[in-house]
Amino acid sequence: CGIVGYIGPREATTVVINGLQRLEYRGYDSAGIAIYDPDLGLQLRRSVGKLSNLQQRLAAEPTRGQIGIGHTRWATHGGVTEFNAHPHRDDSGAIVVIQNGIVENYLSLKGRLLELGYQFESQTDTEVIAKLIGHYYRDSRDLVTAVRQTLSELRGGNAIVAFSIHEPDTLVAARLGNAGGVAIGLGEDEQFIASDIPAILDYTRTLIFLEDRDVAVVRRHSVTITRLDGAPVERPTHTIAWDP
Ligand code: GLU
Repeated sequence: CGIVGYIGPREATTVVINGLQRLEYRGYDSAGIAIYDPDLGLQLRRSVGKLSNLQQRLAAEPTRGQIGIGHTRWATHGGVTEFNAHPHRDDSGAIVVIQNGIVENYLSLKGRLLELGYQFESQTDTEVIAKLIGHYYRDSRDLVTAVRQTLSELRGGNAIVAFSIHEPDTLVAARLGNAGGVAIGLGEDEQFIASDIPAILDYTRTLIFLEDRDVAVVRRHSVTITRLDGAPVERPTHTIAWDP
C-alpha cells in the first residue's frame, strides 16, 4: 500500500517513518521497516496495526543506518499478521523486499520454489518475490539482474523495492503494470523512493516517475533507469510546486 525508501546521510529510520506517516491516509493494516548499517547489519522490525505500534517497537528496539525501506501493508494475500507484514526476506536473509500490488501467479511460482526446497514464513504473494530474487541472485550475484529475472516472471501489477546487504549502497525500485506508482525523489547526496509523492515532499520536490516495466538502480549520487530487458531509458525530471 505505502512504500518509502531512503539512501543518504540522514537517519534512514526517521525519513522512512515520516514518509509512511504521510501515507497513512491511504489505509493499511500493518507496517514494517528494514534498515542497514555496516556495523549493526540488517535490522528488520514489523508489527500489525497502526504505525504507532511500529514506533513503540522502535522505541524499545531502535534501528540505525543510512539506507532503508519501509512499507504499510493492505493485506490481499495472507491475513494480518507480523509474519505477513513486509519487508520479506530471501532464504539467506540478505535480501529484503517490499511490494505494492498483487502477484497473480504467486501460487505457481511458490509451488516451484517449494519443490526447489525453499521454505516460507508467510502466506503472502510478496515473500515469493523475495525468495525468487534470492534464487536468481545465487547465479548472477547481482541484485538488479536478479530483480529483472524475477519481475519478468510476475503477472499482475506491482511496485517493488529491494535491498541486499551484499550491495549496501544500492536500492533497486521497479514498476510492473499500472497497479501502483513509484516516484524517485532526487536530493543532493541523497535519494528517496515513494509510492506516492506526499511521502517525500518534505525532503525534495525534484522527482522522476517510473513507467510500466522500468527498473531503477538508486545510489547516493546516481539514479539509473533501465527497461525490464536492460535497455537504458531516460525519464523526465518533474518539479512539484504544490502542497498535497
Ligand atoms: N499483496 C501484498 C500483500 O498482501 C501487498 C499488499 C499491498 O499492496 O500493501 O502482502
